Amino acid sequence: MTIKVYLTDSYAKELDARIEGLNGAELVLDKTIFYPEGGGQPSDTGKLVINGASYTVTGLRKEGDDVVHLLDRQPGARNGDRVACAIDWDKRYASMRYHSALHTIDGVIERHYNSGLITGGQIYFDRARIDVDMPDLGKEKVAEILAKANEVAVEGHRISTREIGVEEALKIPRLSRTETGRKLLESLKTVRIVEIEGLDEQADGGTHVKNTKELGLIVLNGYENKGSRRKRIEIKLV
Ligand SMILES: [Zn+2]
Repeated sequence: MTIKVYLTDSYAKELDARIEGLNGAELVLDKTIFYPEGGGQPSDTGKLVINGASYTVTGLRKEGDDVVHLLDRQPGARNGDRVACAIDWDKRYASMRYHSALHTIDGVIERHYNSGLITGGQIYFDRARIDVDMPDLGKEKVAEILAKANEVAVEGHRISTREIGVEEALKIPRLSRTETGRKLLESLKTVRIVEIEGLDEQADGGTHVKNTKELGLIVLNGYENKGSRRKRIEIKLV
């Protein structure tokens, strides 16, 4: 099992690990800081140094409890060898800010409009979008929502994560805002919660900033009506 350091320390940029499995250019480590794509958040990129040679991490995927690192070429290495890991921090930090910004927007929608069902979303390194099930959403209301989200950013709310048992988790109303997420929740033993203090709690496996102050200013980058259950809000952080 790979220890997923990104879940408990999203600010870890470098890590010393050991090889636990090797198959061609694919590598499993005992622990990792590399986030594998999921929940709308893209995979990290970065470098591994093994026995003095540097390799680029070109892809990541989850395989059971492991994270598989795909390298640019087969490394000269064997199980147990030490690996110095470094993620491309600028990209990761951008995806953390965008991920937390989407939760802030969703938290505002949930709290003030009582309608936070998410029907889609994607985080990029320079923008992010969220699709919401709000039939009466229009451009004016989007502006209102983003203004409220920016108030939360300026106020500086703490963002924290914790693991709780699934029974306790299921008592928290609307913990998962996607339909697939709700089904997934019931199949888990423990659930990781991301909380924006005073605003929002969600089941989530992504990486987040520590405080909404780190978001900066959320600006609208596009709004599209893609059907009554799918209004698309695209944002940029400046
Ligand atoms: Zn999320």
